[in-house]
Amino acid sequence: AAPAPRSLLDGLDPEQRAAAEAPGGPLLIVAGPGTGKTRTLTRRIAHLVTERDVPADGFLAITFTRRAAEELAERLEDLLSERARDLTVATFHRLGLLILREQHERAGLSASFGIADTARQLEVAAEAAGSEQEGRRLLSRRDAGGPPASDVDAAYERRLRELDLVDFTDLVALPVRLLGADDALADRYRRRWPWISVDEYQDVDERQYALLRLLTPPDGNLTAIGDPDQAIYGFRGADVGFFLRFTEDFPGAATVRLSRNYRSNAAIVDAAVQAIAPASLVPGRELRAVGDFTDPPRIGLHTAADERGEASFVARSIDRLLGGTSWHSLDSGRVTGDGDGGLSFSDFCVLYRTDGQSEAIMRAFNAAGVPYQKRSHDRLLARPGVRMLADELARHPDGPLVERVRSAVALLCDRHAGDADSEERCADLRTAGELVLPLAAECGRDLGEFLSALAMGAEVDALDPRADRVALLTLHAAKGLEFPVVFLVGCDDGLLPFRLPGEARGAAGEDEERRLFFVGLTRARQRLYLSRSRRRTRRGTAYDTAPSAFLEAIDPGLTMPVDEESATRRRPREKQMRLL
Ligand code: ATP
Ligand code: MG
Repeated sequence: AAPAPRSLLDGLDPEQRAAAEAPGGPLLIVAGPGTGKTRTLTRRIAHLVTERDVPADGFLAITFTRRAAEELAERLEDLLSERARDLTVATFHRLGLLILREQHERAGLSASFGIADTARQLEVAAEAAGSEQEGRRLLSRRDAGGPPASDVDAAYERRLRELDLVDFTDLVALPVRLLGADDALADRYRRRWPWISVDEYQDVDERQYALLRLLTPPDGNLTAIGDPDQAIYGFRGADVGFFLRFTEDFPGAATVRLSRNYRSNAAIVDAAVQAIAPASLVPGRELRAVGDFTDPPRIGLHTAADERGEASFVARSIDRLLGGTSWHSLDSGRVTGDGDGGLSFSDFCVLYRTDGQSEAIMRAFNAAGVPYQKRSHDRLLARPGVRMLADELARHPDGPLVERVRSAVALLCDRHAGDADSEERCADLRTAGELVLPLAAECGRDLGEFLSALAMGAEVDALDPRADRVALLTLHAAKGLEFPVVFLVGCDDGLLPFRLPGEARGAAGEDEERRLFFVGLTRARQRLYLSRSRRRTRRGTAYDTAPSAFLEAIDPGLTMPVDEESATRRRPREKQMRLL
């Protein structure tokens, strides 16, 4: 057997070690993509528990997605075995739910209150605001953290409470209200979790920040970790300003920087640093590749005639790479993948700015027989198919959830046979079933737990890392993830940066688009392909596109055009003619 590690801090570089060993008190870890934030955080916690005798049940580790929470919990269990069970690892929403379950009476709720889905929310909002349109406005105001609540907002909340429901916003807003109004209560939680860490701190919003402040004294043991250049949720109320002023909010805070990127090859890291430079929020940003890559291949650039061509480029590239015959060999090296047996489908990921772009990719994958799982950052219950399944399950509350999900899909599909668009609806239900199955499996027979998980979860939470499928993800959903091979499609002006038709160039929000591009580039470990399409179709109308301006920042020496022509060159000419 391999010798046991001497210390939990072995295998950390000096910067990571400094972060892991830092004493209590506020700590800000400014760390670029792929610098090992998760590794550093887990070792820090494990080190404090095993070597500094900090009680494990005093730790609260907060993440943004359920997927990230699961990963963190798994890694902590590897390090701490059964002691890991005493730690609390949760998303902000799950943390809010935990507090609300304990304090439900103060919030005017029963012990078994529910979480309203989007349809229910809209129903109640429309009733409170007088019309569906006003109701929608009310909800988006709430989502964005909105201005002070009006009478209409109060009526909406009152009605939700009467129905024994909370909405997604309430999950954080209500605990803030309860703890804010009662310092003795807040103090109880402060004593319960004297050690708090928050991953992806650059994406906290005002409510989440307020909750953190209530849970941490100014000199408390709060570790905030993140990268301002990966702040991509400003559009829904996140504020990178909280990260930037951490040392003012928590005076005496120590700052540690991580600058060694273990994830990606040097070309990818250099290109990413160049791409973010014009908008970087990290003065003197340092990020260099230290990963063990024998040869630094260049980044593949592909320009297709149209979206179909772009999608078939991706499908064919995957096929060739899997066969070990990458035809546009960017270098002589082989891509190895995560498994022992070389590359498999799950080593690939396709990233795009807008969900609609996945259509062409899915069509090409279906035609080529490439298995995939598609996820966005949207809430699970925003999908009509998922909502129908949830409603159906709530009505028949017994048995293992996995079986019930399967039979509900079959039942609902049956019921709609006959409909004009039944086939489409069935396909949607099947996709929905596939999306929720991993959650159903985890929840066993506990319907309440399953429904809460659905209400709080985003599609990306249902990404199954064990499934051997290519991941199709929006850039927002890809945050925190990594893949040996990444295709970032749609590098066209208007898509990246994204602009609505008629919107002016250089509008506010373009920096966030550039950060999104940065997030996309830095998901790749060994191979990165950037593709675009000269012509696109939006709502039935074709238009010409220009390349994304973001590409201009990348040194051409790091990239290499890869053409369809060279893909077909190998084929016998006659066969091609016959195919046409
Ligand atoms: P992001 O900002 O994208 O979320 P991150 O900083 O959270 O990135 P991780 O996902 O924690 O990055 O780590 C990136 C990769 O680098 C992982 O595969 C991890 O195992 C590896 N890694 C991190 N630190 C080290 C190290 N000291 N030695 C070897 N590999 C490391
Ligand atoms: Mg991370």
